[in-house]
Amino acid sequence: MINIHSNNNHEKQEAWEERTRMSKKTDNSSTNIYELLLEASEKKKKEKREKRAELLKSVGVKEYFEEGSIKIDMRTCKGRECNLCVEACPSNALYWKAGEIGIVEDLCVYCAACVFNCVVDNCIEVIRKRPNGTVEKFSTPRDVLTLLSNTGSGKRSERVKTRFP
Ligand code: SF4
Ligand code: SF4
Repeated sequence: MINIHSNNNHEKQEAWEERTRMSKKTDNSSTNIYELLLEASEKKKKEKREKRAELLKSVGVKEYFEEGSIKIDMRTCKGRECNLCVEACPSNALYWKAGEIGIVEDLCVYCAACVFNCVVDNCIEVIRKRPNGTVEKFSTPRDVLTLLSNTGSGKRSERVKTRFP
């Protein structure tokens, strides 16, 4: 006599094991793809950081900020005759190309000297992140002055606390 019940159970068990094997295989391959993508992106970031460090070293400018961005509104810029931002930039990150300012992002250290010297409010915008996570944004000379003043008074009160605890 054929034991149908037992055969069915055996088939079910095999199907379940196969499904488990397939699911583990899929999990592993998606994890591997994710890890590979992450690795490639980290490698790219590292190469970019190294290239940037090399470039900044060649112009003798130190980097103080974790990351940042800069944009210039060419619609309000006064043009080449002004040139104040280009002259103020310590790392030669700004240059003229076909009547417009070009930015070499790898050379920009987000110091905001260009914003401080610009004759048009909100023409240049610099955003930067300090190593402690603080994000600062500048688009007018007043923004830069406010930060300098706040930093100055912060340092002064630290000195007072040191001398007169
Ligand atoms: S923020 Fe402006 S002045 Fe400072 S490095 Fe960048 S482009 Fe030059
Ligand atoms: S300082 Fe301002 S207005 Fe002058 S060239 Fe630079 S971006 Fe243009």
